[in-house]
Amino acid sequence: MKSPVTSMNHYAKVTAFPQFSGNHLLDVIHSFPLQPMIAASPSHREAISRCGEASVAKTAPRKREEKDMAEVEREVKRASCFLCHLNCGVLCTKENGRVVKIEGDPDNPHNEGYVCSRLEHDRWKDFEYNPNRLKRPLKRVGERGSGQWEEITWDQAFDEMAGRLADLRDKYGAETLCFLEGTYRTQSNLHYKFTNLFGTPNTGGNGTICYSSDMWLEPCTYGGFCSDKSDWMRADLVVLWGRNPAASELLNWQWTLRNMQERGAKLIVIDPRFCEVAQKADLFLQIRPGTDAALALGMINVIIEEDLYDHEFVEEWCYGFDQLKERAAEYPVEKVAEITWIPAGKIRQAARMYATTKPACLPWGEKGGDGCGLNASSAIQGKAILRAITGNIDKVGGDQLTMPGDRGNTEDMNFSHDALSQEQRDKMVGNDMYPGLTFKGWDIISKAYPRFYPYSNAPTMFRQMISGDPYPIKACIVQADNPMLAFSNTKLVHEALKSLDLLIVHDYFMTPTAALADYVLPAATWLERCSIGYPTMDVEQVSMAGSMPVLERFEGGTDIDFRDDYEFWYELSERLGFADKWWGPKYEDMMNDQVAPFGMKFRDFCEKVKYLKVPNVPEKYKEPGFKFLTPTGKVELYSTVIEKLAKETGRNFDPLPSFTFPPNFPEADPEYAEEYPLCMITGARFMPFYHTEHRQPGAYRDLHPDPIFDIHPDTAISLDIAPGDWCWIETHKGRIKQRARTTTTVDPRVISVQHDWWFPEEPEAEPSLFGVFKSNVNVILDDDAKYLDPLMGSWPLTGASAKVYKCEEQD
Ligand code: SF4
Repeated sequence: MKSPVTSMNHYAKVTAFPQFSGNHLLDVIHSFPLQPMIAASPSHREAISRCGEASVAKTAPRKREEKDMAEVEREVKRASCFLCHLNCGVLCTKENGRVVKIEGDPDNPHNEGYVCSRLEHDRWKDFEYNPNRLKRPLKRVGERGSGQWEEITWDQAFDEMAGRLADLRDKYGAETLCFLEGTYRTQSNLHYKFTNLFGTPNTGGNGTICYSSDMWLEPCTYGGFCSDKSDWMRADLVVLWGRNPAASELLNWQWTLRNMQERGAKLIVIDPRFCEVAQKADLFLQIRPGTDAALALGMINVIIEEDLYDHEFVEEWCYGFDQLKERAAEYPVEKVAEITWIPAGKIRQAARMYATTKPACLPWGEKGGDGCGLNASSAIQGKAILRAITGNIDKVGGDQLTMPGDRGNTEDMNFSHDALSQEQRDKMVGNDMYPGLTFKGWDIISKAYPRFYPYSNAPTMFRQMISGDPYPIKACIVQADNPMLAFSNTKLVHEALKSLDLLIVHDYFMTPTAALADYVLPAATWLERCSIGYPTMDVEQVSMAGSMPVLERFEGGTDIDFRDDYEFWYELSERLGFADKWWGPKYEDMMNDQVAPFGMKFRDFCEKVKYLKVPNVPEKYKEPGFKFLTPTGKVELYSTVIEKLAKETGRNFDPLPSFTFPPNFPEADPEYAEEYPLCMITGARFMPFYHTEHRQPGAYRDLHPDPIFDIHPDTAISLDIAPGDWCWIETHKGRIKQRARTTTTVDPRVISVQHDWWFPEEPEAEPSLFGVFKSNVNVILDDDAKYLDPLMGSWPLTGASAKVYKCEEQD
């Protein structure tokens, strides 16, 4: 595969759009001539022929098949795959209205014709054309969770749901409705428009333990977001901290690694597992789970003590260096080595390498303590500070700063936040306890970073569903999420969802969560809706590929009466009397608005624009009059935003990073540690699944039939566990079972447990709920307040404590 740097040459045409020049908006469009897509540019024709198309019904078919072929209506449509975040470009071949083949688009700068195992060997058919996909709206007719349903029409479903929502709003106030989202399987953030217009502030999801925490804390530090624009392709050193793209972003990683190797760039990996990327690293730090904040402080300490920081940048652009220096001094390397289990020499080596190799980037990483548990804020803040004091912010080859509006309308959309009154905002769940991600925190940073949206605290929300304190939460809409798998403390989530008056789930399949709903509604897949994909890890060629639906409703004889995300919200809004606030009745109406800054309609955008390049404007801080969009106008090593939140809430939030031993750690509770001696992590990605998806029996599940946990061979021997044994994994919350895989990639004191396991082949009705309590790691993870990050309320997926023992035969 070509490196993306060289592959940029093959784009056909570059057109400058003067209306965007002079600021940080998109100003370059790589476009193709205006013909229909299958007769587009030479490179595209080549792409299609390389995919084995018989010239898409335009080339003479082979004689033997001439008659048959003449009767087949065939076309190829371009799309972005949304089976994960990467949005690879694909070419979908349709015959007589059915998709028969999906292949990588060789013209796509990101995947260059490659796809992963989720699409390979026609596996996608097991998703798209799975006979168990939801086909019609279902209304619960028996007890909640009894598996008894009746099919109804969409009209009846919308009428009834809207009526019940209006009644609940009249009785309890709009805030009685909450929304739960998953991860980027739909038009992200669309629900905000509905909840704002309905009048509820309560939207939540897993962003708290994922991206959202960084999206709030980085703007607190430098008034923008850096870690999703790390310049891997030009960095001389990349630090992967809690990120294993070889498992989660394989297609990106292949060419990123090749590019790094060709340029001789160095790689540091920090991870509790000797994972795939660690095996490619120049330096690997095997960190004790949950101690990332301590490591960040130890590295900051070395960099300051050894005078390796960027004096010019710190003196001119940073606020609070003296306070930071004092705090970092509390974390000498030997102490940090004890906390993190990383030898002191390696900590020093990593700090020196990072501070002295220029440029270096430190991309966003997920499960390295970033978004998880008691020290999450400090870990994220510590990493943001490391980027700053080494002078890597907004540098070519460093971590580049996003600014408001730099992707036109495509992310900074009108979601009617103004429609929500201050009185309603103040009711957001978590506002008082965990204000970072709620409206309290959002109000402070929203001017700097409008792309961030506030998040209710999910553990608090589930408790409030049960208690009704301080006000009742009686209704919940779930889209692209499966809370019975996705949130810690599953038994509590179960009780909470069962206590609702109205639960609505919009999904592809019946799931453990849908099984508890009042209405279950068939959703449109990525092939059945409009989309804009944002593939690439390369900040120089962020691509935005638009696509119209590849498949229309009922096309090709399918019997699935789906509604796409937009139609779902629009039609519900129509029944509730605020449809006029939307862009129009169709998804395409909204997409037209998204691409309006490029001077074209969405259909044209899909046909004519191959990809858009976001120009890289590094070192914006050198422009005259520049100020970082923080209260001090500087990079805040000491956060005045956090200080302000502490004052406003009367809470003891620390403006500087720090480390506290979680209550389950032996240093905090030796007795507990004796009972549960192993340190447990979860969330490591494994193919072919994506979060809770693809567990249905068939092509995906055949690749990975059973849940697996990793255990070091020495530990396994000491516990009389052999590879493949079914074992109980137990915490104070209960026990689940998975099969043992012995591997030296984990420390003997650590086990790595797979997440999101359920069994669609098992009974739907309670108490089974598709076997959701058997192997689902969230059954044994706790979300009690004492384990949560005090500022953002994120719960721990890393660093829990567990014990393991072999199942008996009868288990
Ligand atoms: S990596 Fe993700 S986006 Fe690309 S083909 Fe696989 S599932 Fe689709």
